[in-house]
Amino acid sequence: MVFATNLGYPRIGARRELKKATESYWKGDLSEADLIQAGADIRKTNWMTQKDAGLDMIPVGDFSFYDQVLDMTALVGAIPARYNFKGGMVDLPTYFAMARGNDSVTAMEMTKWFDTNYHYIVPEFDAATDFKISSSKIFDETKEALDMGIPARPVLVGPVTYLSLGKTKDESDALALLPKLLPVYKEIISRLKTIGIEWVQIDEPILAMDLSDAQKAALKTSCAALTECGVKICLATYFCGLRDNQALALSLPFDALHIDLKRAPEQLESVVKNFPAGKILSLGLIDGRNIWKADLRAALTKAQQTADVLGMDRVWIAPSCSMIHSPNDLDLEVRMDEQLKSWMAYAKQKVSEIVALRDGLMKGENAIADALAASDEVVKDRATSSRIHNTGVKSRMASLEPSMFARESNFKKRREKQHAALGLPTFPTTSIGSFPQTKEIREARAAFKRGDLDMPHYQQAMRDEILRVVRFQEEMDIDVLVHGEPERNDMVEYFGEQLQGYTFSQNGWVQSYGSRYVKPPIIFGDVSRPTPMTVEWSAYAQSLTDRPMKGMLTGPITMLFWSFVRDDQPRSETCKQIALAIRDEVQDLEKAGIKVIQIDEPAIREGLPLRREDWQDYLNWAVDSFRLSASCVHDETQIHTHMCYSEFNDIIQSIADLDADAISIETSRSQMELLEAFVNFQYPNEIGPGVYDIHSPRIPTENEMIILLEKAAMVLDPSQIWVNPDCGLKTRGWKEVEPALRHMVDAAKVMRKRVG
Ligand code: GLN
Ligand code: ZN
Repeated sequence: MVFATNLGYPRIGARRELKKATESYWKGDLSEADLIQAGADIRKTNWMTQKDAGLDMIPVGDFSFYDQVLDMTALVGAIPARYNFKGGMVDLPTYFAMARGNDSVTAMEMTKWFDTNYHYIVPEFDAATDFKISSSKIFDETKEALDMGIPARPVLVGPVTYLSLGKTKDESDALALLPKLLPVYKEIISRLKTIGIEWVQIDEPILAMDLSDAQKAALKTSCAALTECGVKICLATYFCGLRDNQALALSLPFDALHIDLKRAPEQLESVVKNFPAGKILSLGLIDGRNIWKADLRAALTKAQQTADVLGMDRVWIAPSCSMIHSPNDLDLEVRMDEQLKSWMAYAKQKVSEIVALRDGLMKGENAIADALAASDEVVKDRATSSRIHNTGVKSRMASLEPSMFARESNFKKRREKQHAALGLPTFPTTSIGSFPQTKEIREARAAFKRGDLDMPHYQQAMRDEILRVVRFQEEMDIDVLVHGEPERNDMVEYFGEQLQGYTFSQNGWVQSYGSRYVKPPIIFGDVSRPTPMTVEWSAYAQSLTDRPMKGMLTGPITMLFWSFVRDDQPRSETCKQIALAIRDEVQDLEKAGIKVIQIDEPAIREGLPLRREDWQDYLNWAVDSFRLSASCVHDETQIHTHMCYSEFNDIIQSIADLDADAISIETSRSQMELLEAFVNFQYPNEIGPGVYDIHSPRIPTENEMIILLEKAAMVLDPSQIWVNPDCGLKTRGWKEVEPALRHMVDAAKVMRKRVG
């Protein structure tokens, strides 16, 4: 018997019901009972959808009001002391206080879940942390599912991943808590057994990462303990291949092992060859984190080959990872282009693919002849479509030359020419791009999109805003101005909408954190730029002033990482295509008289692969892509880049290799400590360490900013230093921005006098 299984289903509801319910609960407009009911409704819909589609095993515990790692924290009772938890069961107000903080207590930290754009709540431990079952959620939901006749498989974040993702406040070793944690996990699993559960899914994604010896030992101890409970364990790994951990993984006492064959198809052969007798292999064949239909025939062949070796009853079909990273239901995309839509599958459609593969494996190809034929058609369509394959782009890609990746002269020479051309003072001031996005601007943009505002009126509204922003900056006496980005609602979407090869969905929402969901653009084909995207705005802004106006672009790496990407060519290839499109824009900006061009790359660091051995390859193509986009200008034109974080220790060489003339980074919160990487490395180009924390409504004083600049001037050559905020100002109000920027310019002027 081959099982069709799932590892997790989107929890936000097909129409974002979870967002609506939680946000009205937070506002006080929805009662706790109604919120709980809204959760139950989503679970029921999800379970019935999966059951009706024919899944044999359906995850339970994948639903969460905020985050599955926080649910785990509640379940094992690792509640930090500041929440005053008195024992018993964690209630919803405490749960949400941990997630979001409230008037009297700060939230727990949040960070990215492996290399996804999903953020989890970071567990907090210290050597004294004790564990005790403190939530009945998983038990209640399991009963709820069984009562509905759902073939339920509860999901738990595995103990080693859970501890590894946490952080200890007292420098103690989180893994040292394992002996205290395991009895609680065992109690949880034993309780699930009493409820009537045969299988649990233990997610240990850490098993596919670089592991320390302590983690390896912990995995052995942990798996041995969990299998003692008399419930079968499906040990799930994903996001990367097992690689050097394969022998370890295969030696663990699981009943089934799940592997990600989308991210790491190459591991199948050797896993199958070495797979322990009697155990089940769960094949992650359907992409859990992208929106493309599977090549069913190719997947079926892999499943068949596996079954030939292991036997039918030792193979399961599954998505590569939990589908919480995929949007919900493609059927709701009523406005999407039909051909593009025919290439896609969201979670609901992916479930059907899993079921089809099971049927094909059990009953033979003929049983799913229609599904295979339809899939073949899509594969062919995508391989040959002229909407995907643009011969112009392909020939440009084939004729890339080394000279296209390098500026005319080295930095020293460029710098002289730029300084002569721009005539800037020392400690030049600038901002990162956006200015406050007022209600009026957002309304004008929305009305234009709806068709309620015609082009001339929309253009006038934007020009009025640009004029206001330019005059404001002149009045502030800022040196390098920006146009303020009023026309942009999002730094990726704005460009994606104007590029060929990109499309947008109406309903492709995925959870980023809590009630914040994102709808990433979709890169489906070769990317090119039919017409200039920003030149008109920038040129208009420049025409209003004698001061240099900075052109503002989003870089290729960020465009790539914040989108759903095509799966029919390497990401590096797609990234370079985007780079060529940006390059065209850079060139046109220069031609239009723009002398300073900023290419934002906030995503470079988050794009780092999960395994260290893969870093260099990634950094090479990332750096190449940036350079390809930026290197077409004359020496006199100054290229800036911006990144809104500052932990650069690991990648500082690559940051320097970007060879941007100036980089702005986020440093105000860390009081310039985070400049360290640049100082140690002796970063040669110009650098703007942020002096104004734009994430806070607080207005920094002139003196605070002087102190920060003094610190920077002590470790950097003062002639390298730019003065700017940490990031764009679009989320701030004018009332804060005005005094803050005034203080910033005054601080720069003081520094000019002091340091000369
Ligand atoms: N230029 C963008 C802005 O100012 C940069 C945004 C970002 O770095 N996230 O809004
Ligand atoms: Zn930023």
